[in-house]
Amino acid sequence: MRYLPVFIDLSAGPVLLIGAGDPAQAKLRLLAAAGARVRWYSTDGQHDLGGLQPADAARIELSEADPLTADLGGVIAVFCAGAGDIGPAVSARAKASGIPVNVMDDLAHSTFILPAIVDRGDVVVAVGTGGASPVVARRVRERIEALLPARIGDLASFIGRWRQTINGRIPEFQLRRRFWERVVDGSIGALVLAGRAAEAEAALKNITDASAFAGAAATGRADGRVTLVGAGPGDPDLLTVKALRSLQDADVVFYDELVSPEILDRARRDASRVAVGRRVGQPGIGQDAINKLMIEAARSGLRAVRLKGGDPFVFGRGGEEIDALRQAGVACSVVPGITAGIGAAAQFEVPLTFRHEALRVTFLTAHKARDAESVDWSGLTDVRMTVVVYMGMTAAPSVRSGLLAAGRSPQTPVGVFARVTRPEAQAAVGTLDQLPDLVGRIDGGPAIVIIGDVVAHSAPWRQSQLAQLIPYLQVAAE
Ligand code: SAH
Repeated sequence: MRYLPVFIDLSAGPVLLIGAGDPAQAKLRLLAAAGARVRWYSTDGQHDLGGLQPADAARIELSEADPLTADLGGVIAVFCAGAGDIGPAVSARAKASGIPVNVMDDLAHSTFILPAIVDRGDVVVAVGTGGASPVVARRVRERIEALLPARIGDLASFIGRWRQTINGRIPEFQLRRRFWERVVDGSIGALVLAGRAAEAEAALKNITDASAFAGAAATGRADGRVTLVGAGPGDPDLLTVKALRSLQDADVVFYDELVSPEILDRARRDASRVAVGRRVGQPGIGQDAINKLMIEAARSGLRAVRLKGGDPFVFGRGGEEIDALRQAGVACSVVPGITAGIGAAAQFEVPLTFRHEALRVTFLTAHKARDAESVDWSGLTDVRMTVVVYMGMTAAPSVRSGLLAAGRSPQTPVGVFARVTRPEAQAAVGTLDQLPDLVGRIDGGPAIVIIGDVVAHSAPWRQSQLAQLIPYLQVAAE
């Protein structure tokens, strides 16, 4: 470690900024965000504050004087940015008075350097590379940005507000630390991170015996909870940041058949993994048994993740699971995922809506012919409606006859998209009339069917048209 990271209180005294242009303005924004009082010596005679908030601008003093004769009395730091070649002279003066100085892009004349910063209110992360590579520092910062919950700063300030009170109620240090650990890791922390600060506040107020609460943490009984997490259609890169965070936080993961192994790999290494899904044609353990498992896990203090293909609330029985968890009084929350229809649309470039052509989208399930028969196809006659069918492989003939009977043209473009966003994804496009044949061309599911004029905009449709044209082009060439 070449430099020691420290956090300086810039409200303690004036800071000198010497320089001009964009570099100086960027420093002004940074210093203003840290609440600094700045004395700015512009080296090009311009003092453009670049849209700084009036409250921040009020703390900036503009000087026309020569920066090399500036009064350094009481100054706590000197920043030089966009100052041309006077950097070394400024640095020499600051050093002579023992004042920390930073000259932008000039390590040799700086006594301190600026890190890349993740700024989440009270939580600030500084990343340094000893000045070697700001680009590497920025990449590290991006990774940390993705890992930290957006409201982590709120959590810190929430605890900050309660600190004094709890200090009074739990004098013993170890026990107090356990109290805060239980707050941060348990349902109160989860509420703050979910933006439900009022409920978190109420829950903390409700703790009548703070020492007993902390004691429970000592015996390993933290608050269990269940998070329903949408795993998306298969590509692990399509997990949301929140889904990833839940997986990395989990003690146990109950996963569905549709969840790909690459996604399961993203769970915390020592989380236990329990398959609860059913394969087509084989019974699973049943919904009641799944609910029971989740409730038991949460009650024994575990952080359980219920990992489901696509989105939990799109043909995923997420609604039933949430009902059961609520009834059991188990804390639960839902992280959305990219549903298969949306994944297929993106991968194969099917715009689900299109100006003038497609003004509505319907997601429906046709699991069995019985389901397909119970669909009210007469509601799907609008030619400007895109229809996305889940679980529609076996019922394809019923889907076709239902839509034709409703008056949809047999020429309506249709796409069958299988194993979307996975390496072995596949598409077959044609017309509504050909739907059962299209399904026959697919080497196995899961597959989604998209019906509507917009399918004619898709990449496979365009390719198939080109393929049809090629014989003619060849004839023309001959
Ligand atoms: N909750 C899931 C849907 C579960 S129902 C979601 O939001 O995507 C199961 C059906 O989803 C399958 O029969 C198939 O129609 C569709 N499906 C799920 N994953 C898929 C994938 N990778 N490719 C194509 N279709 C998929």
